[in-house]
Amino acid sequence: MGHGLPEKETCTAFQRIWITTAGLAPSFERENMHLCPVCGYREMPDPPEDFNICPCCGTEFGYTNAGVTNEQVRAKWLSQNAPWFSPDIQPPADWNPHRQLVEAGFIVGSRR
Ligand SMILES: [Zn+2]
Repeated sequence: MGHGLPEKETCTAFQRIWITTAGLAPSFERENMHLCPVCGYREMPDPPEDFNICPCCGTEFGYTNAGVTNEQVRAKWLSQNAPWFSPDIQPPADWNPHRQLVEAGFIVGSRR
C-alpha cells in the first residue's frame, strides 16, 4: 500500500491555527503579522513591501524608503517625535515608540 498524505503535518498546521486564534500566542508570533523594519511595529497586517504602509510610522515600502536605508527613514521618523501614523488603526494602549524600537533591537542603549 502507498504511504498516503503526510497526515501529521496537516494536523500540526491545524493545531497551530487553533492555538493562534485561541489567542494563546503572543502578538509577535502571529503568522499573519509582520514586523516593520523601520519602526519595529510588530502587527503590520501586510508585509513591508509592495507599497504597503506601516500604520505606525507611515513608511510606504518601495516608496518612502526608495533610495534610502530603513535606518534613514527611522531617523527621520524619530526626528519628528515618532508620531503614530494611521488614523484608522489605533496604537496599542501602552504604545511607546522608543520601547518598541528597543524591543525590536533597532536601538541599542547609548554607552558612555
Ligand atoms: Zn513602521
